Order: sequence, then structure tokens, then C-alpha cells
Amino acid sequence: MEAGSSLHEKLPSRCCIAGGGPAGMMLGFLLARAGIEVLVLEKHADFLRDFRGDTVHPSTLETMHELGLLEEFLKRPHQEVSQVRARIGGEPIHLGNMSYLRTRCRFMVLMPQWDFLGFLAEQGRRYPTFHLRMQTEVTGLIEENGRVVGVRGKAPAGPVEVRADLVVGADGRNSTVRDCSGLMVEDIGASMDSLQIRLSKRANDPDLFLHSDRGKTLVTIDRGDYWHCGFAVPKGAAEKMQARGIEDFRASIVEVAPFLRDRVTELRDWSDVKQLTVKADRLRKWYRPGLLCIGDAAHAMSPVEGVGINLAIQDAVAAANILAEPLRKGAVSGEHLEKIQRHRSFPTRLTQRMQAIIQKQVWRGLDKPQPARPPWPLRLLERTTLPCRMRTRFIGVGFRPEHVKTPDVYKGG
Ligand SMILES: Cc1cc2nc3c(=O)[nH]c(=O)nc-3n(C[C@H](O)[C@H](O)[C@H](O)COP(=O)(O)OP(=O)(O)OC[C@H]3O[C@@H](n4cnc5c(N)ncnc54)[C@H](O)[C@@H]3O)c2cc1C
Repeated sequence: MEAGSSLHEKLPSRCCIAGGGPAGMMLGFLLARAGIEVLVLEKHADFLRDFRGDTVHPSTLETMHELGLLEEFLKRPHQEVSQVRARIGGEPIHLGNMSYLRTRCRFMVLMPQWDFLGFLAEQGRRYPTFHLRMQTEVTGLIEENGRVVGVRGKAPAGPVEVRADLVVGADGRNSTVRDCSGLMVEDIGASMDSLQIRLSKRANDPDLFLHSDRGKTLVTIDRGDYWHCGFAVPKGAAEKMQARGIEDFRASIVEVAPFLRDRVTELRDWSDVKQLTVKADRLRKWYRPGLLCIGDAAHAMSPVEGVGINLAIQDAVAAANILAEPLRKGAVSGEHLEKIQRHRSFPTRLTQRMQAIIQKQVWRGLDKPQPARPPWPLRLLERTTLPCRMRTRFIGVGFRPEHVKTPDVYKGG
């Protein structure tokens, strides 16, 4: 990885991507593979940040397969999950059964996101047109005559200026690019935040992804020798919880997931708990002349059902399919950018709508202490495979899976 350096000279970059998350790294990789000069700027020095989503969905694995990378990817340490089970209001429930899917991989991969991003970076570096600058934070846009023509940023060696035919904001839910762009954000509201913790895993622990009861919801992601957990709290309630003390928080965890009783003391104090602010919003318009936003920068996703990474990857695939040719010719127009939004805004809206419904249905007891049993019609329906099939499709594939249409121009070269 190249550390940031002074980039005042005009770099040979057709496309400059702000943010090396799933959306930015996948887009950077696809464009470089198609022979386009691309520069990804990532503000952190590495990908080693904990508590990012760690799910790689069957549709992303399908993308990997289409790219000829699946076998290599699956050599990395990971867990494969085909049955996603939960306990809600004391009742076992099948959230997803990937064996219903018609994808190449009928399972979801659990892999720390730094490994996933590291893999994409490694694959990208095989192409001479792929450039990744770590420790380089985008701080502003360069505009000329109403058109975005580049970005300003800062790196350890000093200020940075990059000019490009197209700037892509893939810098996540607190996107600087979109803040600077003047694009209008529609807040669709997220009623919760998440307290992220890790607790050790034991051999006989239940194989459950979600535990929800009496107004409390805990997600447990298997990381091999430990559980990466997210405890949902109503927005604004985290401070009150902190004031009640760590012992009270430990008791809440045990209440919803009793098997963790023997190890909650691993949370010594609040420094072992990381609060993540959940956002749910979307841009009215994802683009301006010279600028496009994708992934969470275009539509911040809540963690409900863990589908945000999938959507970010699908955005990147669609954007690369539509942009590779015009970028090569130096002729990206508003119509190309509009086409990307048109293509991706339907699955985004539908996914956000589903997340809102699920949050309301399943997690509605967040601030209520009584048992949260699913309503009887839902329990009845759960006896059929239909709800499970629908959820599986939603989690595993999403509403409009994209397929790689960009070529590998270096293949055999
Ligand atoms: C608590 C929580 C848990 C979640 N769990 C899951 C899950 O399990 N599965 C799932 O699919 N989704 C999950 N999500 C949603 C998921 O994290 C996002 O939808 C997804 O990461 C979006 O990918 P992205 O590439 O658009 O943005 P991000 O993943 O946010 O990546 C943005 C990148 O840009 C970099 N960056 C930011 N600002 C700048 C800047 N100014 N200059 C340069 N670089 C910058 C960041 O360092 C980061 O690397 C969760 C969300 C939350 C809040």
C-alpha cells in the first residue's frame, strides 16, 4: 500500500474515488481491470478497523465468481453460514436458509471486512491502472464552471490535489464528498444505535445470529474464536445506559442471551464497548456534473439484516458497467450518471423500506420491557417456508443483483 504523498501534480487519473470501503474498492478494482486509470483515496492507514460489517453475501460471491476470483477468495480464513437462525420472543426462527438460493454459493461468508478489502486491494494491484493511496483524506471538491473536476485532501506528506474526469464519493455514511457537493439528503430516520462488543466463543454456544426478547436485541456474528456482537439501543439511550453502569449493561446482555452469562465480565468497563451511530438516509440525486456518489455515501444503510455491504458492492458493479466505456473515451455525461441512479435507486428504496418494516416488526420492543412475541399471523406463516424464502432472498441476493459486464483488458496480456 502506498502511503499518502504530495500529489500536487496532475495525476493520470480518469477516475478518483474517495473512500476505500466495499463500494470504493470494488469500483476501483473493476475500472482498473477494464483498463481505466483509477485512484482510490482512503483516509485510514489500513483496513484494520474493527466493528465494520463482516458479511459477504451470496450475490457478492457471485460477483467474485464472475470475476474468476471466487476460489482464491475462499482460501482466506472465513466461516460459511447457510442457515441464519434467531430466537425472537423465546421462539426459534429461521431468518434465512441459503440452500433455497439459486446462486453458485448457497452460503454467506463471514470474514472480517479488513480481509475482504485487503483481498480487493491485492487483486487491484495486479493491474497497472489501479492506484490506492492510504492515509489520504478527501477534504473538499475542486469545481470549475459548476463542474467537479477533482478533489482536495490531506496526506502525511502535505496537502493533496487530484484532478480527474470523474470523482466518485464512496466515503460512507458520513461522506465528506456529499457534504461538499450540495446534493440534497433525504433523512429517512433510524430509530436505533448499536453498541458493539466482542465476547469469547465456546464450543457449545448456540448457533444463533440474533437474539431478541423483552425489548432487547443482540446480534452475534461468529468470528471463529469470539462473537462480534451488536446490541441495539433506541436512539439517544446509550448515554442513559452508560450512566446506569457497565453491570446493568452486562445484565441486559445475559437477559437476552443467557449463554453469555459466564463471560460478560470480559467487558471490564465502557472502554470495551464501541457505540456506532446508525443512519438511514439517501440522496435525492446521486450525481452532479463530474461527480457521482455510491454506497452509503448515496444511501446510508442501517445494519438491519446486514445488507448494506451487498448494496454497496452492487452499486459498484452497476457503476462500472455503465461508466467503463465513457471513461475510456473521456466522455462521461449526465445521462450516464443518471442511468446509474435510475438503475440502483429502485433496489435501494425497496431495501430501505424492508429494513424499516423489519425494524418495526421485529425490534419494535426496543424501549418496552414486556416479552416481544411475534404476532400470531406471523407465527402461523412462519410454519411455511415462504417467509424464510423471502428473507433469504432479501438478505442473500437483494432486489436487483448486478452482473459484471466490464472486461479484463489485461487477460492473457
Ligand atoms: C453498526 C453497523 C453494523 C453494520 N453491519 C453490517 C453487516 O453486518 N453487514 C452489512 O452488509 N452491512 C452492515 N452495515 C452497513 C454497512 O456497514 C454499510 O452499508 C457499508 O459498509 C457501506 O459500504 P461503503 O463502501 O459505501 O462505505 P463504508 O464501508 O463506510 O466505507 C467508506 C470508506 O471511506 C473511508 N473514508 C471516509 N471518509 C473519507 C474521506 N473523507 N476521505 C477518504 N476516505 C474516507 C472510510 O475510512 C471507509 O474506508 C452496518 C452498519 C452499521 C452502522
